[in-house]
Amino acid sequence: MSAELSWKDQYLQELDAAEHRQQHWQQHRMLLERMLVRTSLGLKGQSGELDELLDSVRDEVRKPSINVDNWQLLQTKIDHQMVLLEQAESASQGSAAGPAAESMDLSQNGERLRIARRVGQLIDQIVSEIPIGAEAEKKARALQHILLHSDDWSALRKCLRDVAELVMVAIKQCRAQFDEFIQQLDDRLAVLRQSFVAHTSAQSGRLSASAALGRDLRGGITRLSEHIQSSNNLGQLKHSVTTHLDCIAQSVVQFRERESDREKGLAAQLEAMQQKIVTMETESELMQEQVLKERRRANTDMLTQLPNRDSWQDRLQFEVDRWQRYKGDITIAVVDIDFFKRINDSFGHKAGDRVLQLLARELKKGLRSTDFIARIGGEEFVVLLPETTGAQAKKVMDGLRDNVAKLPFHFSNQPVTITFSAGLASIRNGDNEDTLFERADRTLYKAKNAGRNQVMISEE
Ligand code: GH3
Ligand code: MG
Ligand code: MG
Repeated sequence: MSAELSWKDQYLQELDAAEHRQQHWQQHRMLLERMLVRTSLGLKGQSGELDELLDSVRDEVRKPSINVDNWQLLQTKIDHQMVLLEQAESASQGSAAGPAAESMDLSQNGERLRIARRVGQLIDQIVSEIPIGAEAEKKARALQHILLHSDDWSALRKCLRDVAELVMVAIKQCRAQFDEFIQQLDDRLAVLRQSFVAHTSAQSGRLSASAALGRDLRGGITRLSEHIQSSNNLGQLKHSVTTHLDCIAQSVVQFRERESDREKGLAAQLEAMQQKIVTMETESELMQEQVLKERRRANTDMLTQLPNRDSWQDRLQFEVDRWQRYKGDITIAVVDIDFFKRINDSFGHKAGDRVLQLLARELKKGLRSTDFIARIGGEEFVVLLPETTGAQAKKVMDGLRDNVAKLPFHFSNQPVTITFSAGLASIRNGDNEDTLFERADRTLYKAKNAGRNQVMISEE
């Protein structure tokens, strides 16, 4: 926005400079006019024709604007009259007038002498206040000397004529300088307008609001520039510039308002989108949780909350793959509850379920966190003990078997002892998941056949 403000600043600066120049110019003009009036009065009384011409000069000076052609014409006519007068004078001097006639002439013209001296004094003011140039200043000083000191009327008259000429030239020069200044002001405005057009066209890809602003501003500057070209009156010019600048400033304000409305709209849209994203993120988190829950459910046995058969298969495969790379020990146990059918038959299926739950908890409690236990069938469990030899695993499983056997079950007020049998197998070269499991399973049946409530280790 500072770019737009600087347009206004620049215009106002130009305007101040113009006003300042006009004041100077008017002061100079008044001074020169006063000089010209006095000079013409000093020359009065020579001849009827010359007096008429000098009256016209004074009339012309009082007009508000200078008509250069009129002035030129008057000057030529005055020159002509002066030449005629000089000729007549030298003719009369040549015959018989003599110094007596001269001095009488001078005393008759006492008033003229006073004016000549006054004009001589005014030259000081002109030279000090108006830059007329070194050449003209030298000439003015020489004329001043004669006007202040000479009593020779013919010399004084010639001087007054020269001063009048000098003053008329100075007035024309002043006017030319002022015209030049107005032209410069106009040129500067044209440059401003051009750079503004370039500035706005550089943003032509932007919104229609920006284009409208560009049109308004260009229109304002064009009107202003036209007005400056046609104006001679700075007061009117100042009013015009201020009005146009107000219009331009208003366009900028409207543009800003439209822009801020548009930005507000965009901000609201952005906010809504962000809200939507937050909602979607929350939904996605919930869904992810749901998926995890589903996956857990798919891998979990609902009755005992232990991992199910699928989980077991995955874990067994993982451990066997790892063993194939790193070796070490793995022992698995297949566990089956003894005479479980009797529990169901004697105390009902629900009691059977309860036994399965309690037993699962007891088994899990007795294992390390790195061990793995799953329920893979009705009353069958498997345990995987990583980095555990068969002998170590047998100790662990026997400990569990003791604990389970000691559990104080009561059904229909009868104490019931639950036992299990387990078959163990340790992994060995050439094993895969199936061969390892089958060996353990076969060992389980050996334990069953050997009387149940015992843990046997595969000796195959
Ligand atoms: P043993 O293994 O000692 O040879 O005898 P058993 O009675 O345990 O053997 P069997 O495999 O013949 O019986 C298993 C019984 O387990 C059959 C079934 O009624 C019961 N059972 C299997 N799954 C469940 C279950 O989820 N809940 C209950 N309550 N009983 C189950
Ligand atoms: Mg069974
Ligand atoms: Mg059984």
